[in-house]
Amino acid sequence: MSRIDLHLHTTHSDGSLPPSEVLKLAAKASVTALAITDHDITSGIPEAMATGRELGIEVIPGVEISCFDGTSELHILGYCLDWQDSVLNGRLASLRASRHRRNPLIIERLRAAGLDVTYDEVRALAGTESVGRPHIARLLMQKKYVSSAKEAFDRYLAEGKPAYVPRDLPAPAEAISWIRDAKGVAVLAHPTWVKDSGDGLGGRLTALKEAGLGGVEVHYSTHSKTQTASYLELAKRLDLLVTGGSDFHGLTKPDIEVGYGRGDLRVNPRLLEPLKAAAAARS
Ligand SMILES: [Zn+2]
Ligand SMILES: [Zn+2]
Repeated sequence: MSRIDLHLHTTHSDGSLPPSEVLKLAAKASVTALAITDHDITSGIPEAMATGRELGIEVIPGVEISCFDGTSELHILGYCLDWQDSVLNGRLASLRASRHRRNPLIIERLRAAGLDVTYDEVRALAGTESVGRPHIARLLMQKKYVSSAKEAFDRYLAEGKPAYVPRDLPAPAEAISWIRDAKGVAVLAHPTWVKDSGDGLGGRLTALKEAGLGGVEVHYSTHSKTQTASYLELAKRLDLLVTGGSDFHGLTKPDIEVGYGRGDLRVNPRLLEPLKAAAAARS
């Protein structure tokens, strides 16, 4: 049965496969349309589009921007945007620069904890300008300090752990405006990340909608049936678009497959037209 996958990472951020390989997996999974949504970077899109033309898969330009709303780190997905827009790419470059300020501080803390790692090693392993904690986790795996990315986060890298360093992140409203300025549609990624600050997810989504949010990622690899149903109900009630994707990263999240998530994900191709229509209304 055909499906779409609007949330995929490649080697241009913290995924382990280049765009062309992700597209090949998508073809095997009967994915008819997909979005490459690398963190804070759009450089994987041209390769994805070229491979998409060969394989007959529609490629929607996308990006995933990390934000902080005062309580939780949130991710805002941007779809159908003008990914070559110089203002957008300048803004994303400034976010990546903040990663390069943060990562060496994380490395310092890991070294203080007795681990023999350098930032040069992380950058060499990452091979991209969008370097993040998953790359550090991969280095810790290579050096046998941990046996999985999850263990790297649980022992060292997650909030509250010895090597955690907070990062300067834009507010969600700012990321939403960047996406809208580039004629795209902004969507709240994996809403399970929203920590309850008293007004519940409905209240937060209402505020984000006022800031220009267009949709919510209802279908996601780790959502339970109950969560999916409640997000669907919220999206309907607030008149937000429904999207979905696997958040495939390759080796960093080995249990997640393109198109299928943990096996039971299916994002209906019918969700694509409303998304494209909303973007067309913006340009
Ligand atoms: Zn995310
Ligand atoms: Zn993601």
